[in-house]
Amino acid sequence: MSDCIFCKIINGEIKSNKVYEDADILAFHDAFPVAEAHVLVVPKKHIDSLNHLEDEDIPLVGKINLAIPKIAQTLGLKAGFKTLVNTGKAGGQTVYHLHYHILGGRFTKKDAL
Ligand code: 5GP
Repeated sequence: MSDCIFCKIINGEIKSNKVYEDADILAFHDAFPVAEAHVLVVPKKHIDSLNHLEDEDIPLVGKINLAIPKIAQTLGLKAGFKTLVNTGKAGGQTVYHLHYHILGGRFTKKDAL
């Protein structure tokens, strides 16, 4: 989508600090981290939110779920991490491109999510 920030990150129009990339997924550091480690994992396919997933996205969602712990390991989060998905306005979603927050280490802004 032309006006989607994360699509612009995916296509290189907006710079990001990438931590993982494959044909279907990109992971990059959150620009406004609320924890020592705060990475966003996004599908390259534009999907607005969890509310917009279709059956055909099941393999993609599976792939993201398998990638998340591997990305967490590369971030050094050996003792564990949080995974968060905000959905819709009341769910705190501010960017309407499906994304999974990986959060670890010390939280710097506990109320930010
Ligand atoms: P949400 O509130 O939708 O769950 O999360 C959106 C996240 O995207 C926020 O944590 C916010 O800091 C992050 N974010 C917003 N704009 C940008 C950007 O241009 N670059 C990066 N790396 N992160 C962004």
